Amino acid sequence: MNRSTHLLGPTQIGTTRSVTSLHYGKPGSGGKAYLQASLHADELPGMLVMHHLIALLDAAEAAGRLRGEIVLVPVANPIGLAQGLLHGRIGRFEAASGENFNRGYPDYLAALTPAVEARLGADGAANRTTIRAAMRAHLDAVEPTTELACLRKTLSSLALDADVVMDLHCDLEAVLHLYCEAPYWPQGEALARLLGSECTLLAKNSGGASFDEHLSGVWWQLDERLERERGAARPVIPLACLAVTVELRGQLDIDHGLAARDARALFDFLVHRGLIARADDVGPLPLPALRRDPTPLAASEDLRAPHAGVIVYLKHPGDEVAAGESVAEIVDPLAGLATPVCARYGGRLYARALKRYASPGDSIAHVAGTVAFRTGNLLSP
Ligand SMILES: [Zn+2]
Repeated sequence: MNRSTHLLGPTQIGTTRSVTSLHYGKPGSGGKAYLQASLHADELPGMLVMHHLIALLDAAEAAGRLRGEIVLVPVANPIGLAQGLLHGRIGRFEAASGENFNRGYPDYLAALTPAVEARLGADGAANRTTIRAAMRAHLDAVEPTTELACLRKTLSSLALDADVVMDLHCDLEAVLHLYCEAPYWPQGEALARLLGSECTLLAKNSGGASFDEHLSGVWWQLDERLERERGAARPVIPLACLAVTVELRGQLDIDHGLAARDARALFDFLVHRGLIARADDVGPLPLPALRRDPTPLAASEDLRAPHAGVIVYLKHPGDEVAAGESVAEIVDPLAGLATPVCARYGGRLYARALKRYASPGDSIAHVAGTVAFRTGNLLSP
């Protein structure tokens, strides 16, 4: 394993920060996977999973089992890690700008100009190489003017030619769930099975240019654009980057047992993808059953507090909720109110708030239904 240090700049006078990447295997030797943890710097389960995954990869490397290139960034956001206010951590947004660390990644579709399209033909593998070169040239031309822009460029640069990207996050209180772009579900299903995902949310371009979608989206969006322009005579565009956001339960779900299990699942997925040889080398890796069929992210209901008060949950993450059923009550002792908050459509409660006081309109729970009803930007701020 080789270790690389990437300095972030421009930064404040007298301050130096860096991102460290760990590189297993040889570039160009047979596929590439990229994994990062804690891009939202207050979401720490992924960092502990990385600790366990490094041990597995070290052993695989020593045993000569690496068949591709695997890049890890176990601590993806040193800017966010350093942020705090009044003994609380601020990891989702950069304090100076208010920008979400997981939004605003490069628009690689814009890099694929008519001149690039003209070089694409019937060879999908050759087209993949041409497109990645154009993406790389586009990124190389970016000159970051802030430390946050440099962080985004650094992470995108490490990941843009990967066939598999896994971005390890967590929710507030939640069961393990995944976000995946719908065209990639046939590739992502094995990951959902291995991780035991309780809920997988599919979308096409959720909005906001999140880290996962800025890499997976360019391929199917280019194919759709070419289909509109040229129909069936268009070049072959492979779905070349399965990029998945893995929500490793809630912020407090940090223990060695869970992390070791999750690291083993990620490792097994790398085996499934052929990046690591099986120890016994006997056929494909058996996959556990899928726990729940994927559902549209546009069918995910965001339940809101109707007024201020103490949140008293009646349902736990993982519970099935019927349409019209109460998930929580909001209690205001001065007004004598205990107002139920009900799911309109029903489905699986997969995430809820960590705090137990709601301001009016606060999001307090997410329920994954099956029938899409939302439009526009589908991600939380
Ligand atoms: Zn996150």
